Amino acid sequence: MQLPREVIVGKGAIARIPEVMQRLGLTGSAMIVAGQKSYEIAGKRVLDLLEANGIGTSVVRVDTATIKDVTLIEEQIKAKKPSVLFGVGGGTKIDAAKLSSAEQGLPYVSVPTALSHDGIASPLASVKGLGKPYSVMVQAPLAIIADTEVIAQAPWRSVVSGCGDVISKFTAVRDWRLAQADKNEYYGEYAASLALMSARLVMRNAGLIQPGNEEGLRVLLEALISCGVAMSIAGSSRPCSGSEHLFSHALDLINHPRAMHGEQCGVGSILAAYLQGANWRRIRNTLREINAPTTAVGLGVKDEDVVKALEMAATIRPERYTILHKLNLSREACEKAAKNTGVIG
Ligand SMILES: [Zn+2]
Repeated sequence: MQLPREVIVGKGAIARIPEVMQRLGLTGSAMIVAGQKSYEIAGKRVLDLLEANGIGTSVVRVDTATIKDVTLIEEQIKAKKPSVLFGVGGGTKIDAAKLSSAEQGLPYVSVPTALSHDGIASPLASVKGLGKPYSVMVQAPLAIIADTEVIAQAPWRSVVSGCGDVISKFTAVRDWRLAQADKNEYYGEYAASLALMSARLVMRNAGLIQPGNEEGLRVLLEALISCGVAMSIAGSSRPCSGSEHLFSHALDLINHPRAMHGEQCGVGSILAAYLQGANWRRIRNTLREINAPTTAVGLGVKDEDVVKALEMAATIRPERYTILHKLNLSREACEKAAKNTGVIG
């Protein structure tokens, strides 16, 4: 079980990076992985801070998280031999840093600039070119430095997406329990409870999650970090990824990402809850409260693509047993579920 050793959350948290380096005993040089925007928003400050504290630092700019980017970072690691990698960004940069550091046997520090999904704290990475549309186990961050002043500058839509990702844990945990009951799969009560608690907290505080409300951002941030920890404890994405995530991955394959990951998972969670016989209206109402999409139109996809994705979802990961695998729905049954929940017209 790998867990983060330091989690610093709050206004101006970035300023504490040199102190964290010292506490963690990281004495060598550092390397920053960032995108163009995330470098401007936070990466440059991390660089200046490290250099001002006598820590030699290099920067690798990436714009995506493909296997090509990961190889490029790995080459830079071999050349510069840093003792730690900083992933600065909204998700893809962190994923690229996560995978390349793990491949090269280095620790990495997550410095999120947006809260769009739980990858900012999880031990899993989603990288294009690995041949899998879902995330794979890599390594947990050694530390998470989440500066709410930086995060507050991200587009509001990323916050909505992050909420969708957290709320979707309701159906993920139900699927996990189902896999234990039907397939005798290992089920971790502690990891499941942690994921569920995060979803409940976001749901209960949905009213606070409004632009300009620091407290609301903090609720979401802590929930995302807890989800990451839940996956570290479980040793897989099980507590945080069930049929609703399979639906989102299928939609990505059909449409190439049109909407954000958490937006798609939120809609997926409405459908999954309906199929699970759970309270899908509560999930839909909470998503509405935070202005997250609850329909195909809201996601910017065609009705028929929602039906197609729901039908295809179980085939994305045949080994990850969910309600979709149990029900083995026909096209008509998928259409009925999408219609009855108002996801399609
Ligand atoms: Zn997710």
